Amino acid sequence: MSKTKIEWTNVTACRSCGAEIFWAITKTSKRMPIDAVPTRDGNVEILRNGDATPWAIVHAEPAGMFDAWAERAHTSHFATCPEADSWRK
Ligand SMILES: [Zn+2]
Repeated sequence: MSKTKIEWTNVTACRSCGAEIFWAITKTSKRMPIDAVPTRDGNVEILRNGDATPWAIVHAEPAGMFDAWAERAHTSHFATCPEADSWRK
């Protein structure tokens, strides 16, 4: 499957490792850094929110287990950043 970065939200670089990420808002109104490239193993489903910050729906199972969700399945950058321990609070 293609690994297309999403184009409709502001992609930025992680301050720690330089990876491409974007910010999303969780159900509890927390900002979560998300890896810009979707992955079927990701358990975070990204929902478009117009031009505003997208929503992050965290699932117990990988969101990409369903084909229909594959392009919306991402991983929290907290999980993949090699420097996460230095900036996580
Ligand atoms: Zn990082």
